[in-house]
Amino acid sequence: QSKDAGRNRFSYFTRSMQEVAQARMNLSNDLRRAIGGPQLQVYYQPIVDLATGRIGKAEALLRWRHPAQGLISPVEFIPIAEHNGLIVTIGDWVFHEALRQAGHWRALDADFTVSVNVSPAQFYRNNDEHYSEWLRHCKGGSPAVGLEITEGLLLASNAAVIQQLLAFQDAGIQLSLDDFGTGYSSLSYLRKFNLDFLKIDQSFVYNLEHDAANVALCEAIIVMAHKLGLKVIAEGIETWPQCELLSRAGCDYGQGFLFGPALPVEEFEALLKAPAGGKRLGWDAPPLA
Ligand code: C2E
Ligand code: MG
Ligand code: MG
Ligand code: MG
Repeated sequence: QSKDAGRNRFSYFTRSMQEVAQARMNLSNDLRRAIGGPQLQVYYQPIVDLATGRIGKAEALLRWRHPAQGLISPVEFIPIAEHNGLIVTIGDWVFHEALRQAGHWRALDADFTVSVNVSPAQFYRNNDEHYSEWLRHCKGGSPAVGLEITEGLLLASNAAVIQQLLAFQDAGIQLSLDDFGTGYSSLSYLRKFNLDFLKIDQSFVYNLEHDAANVALCEAIIVMAHKLGLKVIAEGIETWPQCELLSRAGCDYGQGFLFGPALPVEEFEALLKAPAGGKRLGWDAPPLA
């Protein structure tokens, strides 16, 4: 009896494993077909200069509107794209899309920059022609696009990756270290790579106003980053008290639902074009009590 039950459970288990694998496979195929079409769109989330309240930058975030399943999170489909290699084609498209868009927005703000996420997988797959193309497009002046990389890439970096990162920096492409504090944080690479921005991961900002330990960590990260010559962007700011605490700690930029989510091009542009009032995103908020 118990043997039967065991077998049933086992077969149920394998069937559901197959279903998960099948669903992943379907999604992978759907993603392949979605490339180049309207299902994939780049959204832009404002990054606000905490000293002035102005939008100084944006982060390009990919959105996939699946015809049957609706909006699918990049948390779900980026790993699939990394696994099947599509991330190279998709990442190349996001880069050029963001570069073109940021170029338009430079007419409104001369040093406006859009940062684009780059997966470690993009560095490990043969992506060299794409990268030389990126560098060609960024020649002359300060590029309107920067790159967001993660701690894992720096930690695992081999000679080829280091050379590629240095080539980006030589071309004036600004590098941000994304999700800081969540990886295997080894601080030595902050010395080794001359990065421009450090992005404090949203897990440190979450609940900040009720978490003295996180306040201490944010303050320490900001002091350390500044001493090493990096500017700091705090991710995931959702409340004014969080914004106020980070601002007081000397944080340079903020990003989060408090200022706005990632928006489609037209909506983001409306925000950027809004007269001073709109652009300052409600900066008259009451200070911390
Ligand atoms: P990320 O680069 O750390 O991007 C920030 C994520 O935090 C975004 O999630 C954004 O929507 C979300 N976020 C922003 N403000 C808040 C807030 O106040 N509260 C909360 N709870 N979340 C906030 P999203 O767009 O779902 O993207 C998730 C991740 O997917 C990104 O994390 C990035 O690692 C990856 N990703 C997105 N687009 C691309 C892309 O074009 N290429 C690559 N390689 N990865 C991408
Ligand atoms: Mg990012
Ligand atoms: Mg992040
Ligand atoms: Mg991330």
